[in-house]
Amino acid sequence: MRSPSLLVFDFDGVIVDGMNEYWWSARRACLQLNPAVDLPESTPPQFRQLRPWIHHGWEMVLSAALISEQRGPLEQLGVQAFVHGYTAQCTAALERFGWTPALLQQTLEVVRATAVRTDPDSWLALHQPYPGVPERLTAFSEENMAWAVLTTKARDFTAELLASMGLKPERLDGHESGSKPEVLRRLACDWTLEGFVEDRRPTLETVRTTPGLETLRCWLVSWGYLRPTDVTDLSSGIRLLRPEQFSAPLADWP
Ligand SMILES: [Mg+2]
Repeated sequence: MRSPSLLVFDFDGVIVDGMNEYWWSARRACLQLNPAVDLPESTPPQFRQLRPWIHHGWEMVLSAALISEQRGPLEQLGVQAFVHGYTAQCTAALERFGWTPALLQQTLEVVRATAVRTDPDSWLALHQPYPGVPERLTAFSEENMAWAVLTTKARDFTAELLASMGLKPERLDGHESGSKPEVLRRLACDWTLEGFVEDRRPTLETVRTTPGLETLRCWLVSWGYLRPTDVTDLSSGIRLLRPEQFSAPLADWP
């Protein structure tokens, strides 16, 4: 008997736009480490532009510090040239500020945990679902297509955010469940995977080279945190998914 179908979605950058929460948390963490920095309350454009290169939480805090720097490399080079040497720039900045990734990560996590504990409604309100996405996911449930969420965020936070949008996936896996390729491989034992929808191209490329997942259909959403070059020269197993295609029946997706 064929196992039931399941369509798997990344969360952040696919279902929810967490940009304002990133900035809010990164700014607070940065201010805790250096109360003298001057940072705007609303998300600055440089932070939005840097976001696709940011992989770990600590890099968000470092980005805030870089944005605050007068005549620093970010201001002098501009975002485009800065990201060209992103890793080396981050290493140099850590040294300049006398920080370690562990210190930044821990400060960020304390800021977040405090916000979630003391003012959960304000914290939830920093997350915006992408237009039309909750409605489309609800329609999958009505079409008898089971869908799941697979995220590198913590499971409990994600469950609360989904519930606040009235969404209930068939399954929810957070970073506690392991890496995305590992979880997908496990899911494939019990389900017929219809595909994986993500906004991070390197993750999709890793999935497609994972034994057992080579033929999994992968979609890169056009509305997530993409680098300008992410949409060009995609390999054949990874298709770009635009909002109008996402609203169409699954059988009509590219
Ligand atoms: Mg994402």
